[in-house]
Amino acid sequence: MAERCDVAIVGAGPGASIAAYILAKGGLEVIMFERGDYPGSKAMFGGVLYTTVLSKYFPDFPGANCVERHIIEKRFSMLSESNELALSFKFLDFEPPYYNHSFTALRAIFDRYLAKKAEEAGAVLVTQTVVDEVIASEGRVVGVRARREGGEVLANVVIAADGANSLIAQSAGLRGELPLSVILGVKEVVSLPREVIEDRFSLEGDEGAAYEYLGGGAVRGAMGAGFLYTNRDTISVGYGIPLGALKALGIQPDELLNEFKMHPVVRRLLRGTTPEEYSAHLIPEMTPHDLPHFVGDGIVVIGGAAGLVNANPLFHEGTNMAMASGVMAAETILQAHKAGNFSAKALEPYASRLRESFAWQDYDRYQGLTRMAETHPQFFNKYPYEFIKLARKLFSVAPTDDGMQVPKRALELAVADHVLAELGLMSFGLDLLDAAKAAMF
Ligand SMILES: Cc1cc2nc3c(=O)[nH]c(=O)nc-3n(C[C@H](O)[C@H](O)[C@H](O)COP(=O)(O)OP(=O)(O)OC[C@H]3O[C@@H](n4cnc5c(N)ncnc54)[C@H](O)[C@@H]3O)c2cc1C
Repeated sequence: MAERCDVAIVGAGPGASIAAYILAKGGLEVIMFERGDYPGSKAMFGGVLYTTVLSKYFPDFPGANCVERHIIEKRFSMLSESNELALSFKFLDFEPPYYNHSFTALRAIFDRYLAKKAEEAGAVLVTQTVVDEVIASEGRVVGVRARREGGEVLANVVIAADGANSLIAQSAGLRGELPLSVILGVKEVVSLPREVIEDRFSLEGDEGAAYEYLGGGAVRGAMGAGFLYTNRDTISVGYGIPLGALKALGIQPDELLNEFKMHPVVRRLLRGTTPEEYSAHLIPEMTPHDLPHFVGDGIVVIGGAAGLVNANPLFHEGTNMAMASGVMAAETILQAHKAGNFSAKALEPYASRLRESFAWQDYDRYQGLTRMAETHPQFFNKYPYEFIKLARKLFSVAPTDDGMQVPKRALELAVADHVLAELGLMSFGLDLLDAAKAAMF
């Protein structure tokens, strides 16, 4: 006979585990399936965890060694082949223990921490087990089929928390074929003694830094961005790029990573590091058209599986959205359990709450910016170079033939000439307007 539980969860990422924790605390029988050897073993993300939702449920997480460093510097850089123009925000006045709710993290550690909390609350975690599809009966989802002996598990509700490629949402008919457009995320974790990291990045104690790189020197001017995040005694270094753009560059993912690591600006920060692990992941780029229905009869879709990610060049967020959607889904399921009704209608409050939350609003808002970036490659392959050239012209200290120095007025005129001749004030103005419109509407 098939096993039975109240809720079967596919995946043991941050969204799944926080949902499992709340459901188990609420007295429900929960089974969480994870295909990896352990939670986080197959996860790939840049490396910054936003913790507002986490801190509500696990207020003492900063002392639990599940995160690396709290971020005190966010730095956005434009790179040309040999130069950098950067804007850095240092924020030293946020209070402990959560500071600005932005921590660097390693998923192999963090996902295990959160899954353990779910297990301690009573959820059952089954690792090394792939779920192939949902089981449907009379038009509603009634369980999952896992790739193991006695693989059928019946449940009142299934939570599809299997990440952006969600085959579970697809098998339940809640979303169509996966979109063809995909982003490739590539990352290496390299080790360096913690005192060296702190000296090199001007950090004290557990302070951390998050550096983002745009433009030519980062990913050869393609739409995409490089990143470098400090952990305790490692650094996460990598990039995200649309697969089509990588193909057009005609370069292998690891070669592009090496090129980024060898950039004269980046190389100085990585001097003396030892590579520890390399990962690469394809993530479908979901437009609103590709998004799944968030609920069906007997099923809800959360986190990356629901398309909730904000992976444009300015923000790399998603784990926070996954945790928020996990909370909202679990609370709705607890209500449905009380009413003994697991229909799509009974689960619909999850979708309504989600749409009102920051998770949906941020996804929706920044979609426009991502689409705009696709149609305006000049933000990646032209303007970073031009701005760096302008800065170089303005800050050059050049001798004159008589052994004196070129006056500032001449430098300013050279900058003005460059703006008019190369940047194109009119087209730049229009592009800025497009970017502002995309970010705002
Ligand atoms: C380039 C890039 C960088 C990013 N950087 C950041 C960042 O710095 N910070 C941030 O917050 N977000 C970042 N994100 C987004 C973030 O990675 C995701 O939003 C987040 O991981 C989603 O969490 P989740 O719990 O929904 O699912 P996931 O974390 O995707 O977890 C899904 C889990 O399900 C398991 N699974 C999948 N299929 C099955 C199956 N059939 N059976 C059993 N188990 C299965 C997987 O092994 C995995 O453990 C980034 C995204 C990209 C593209």
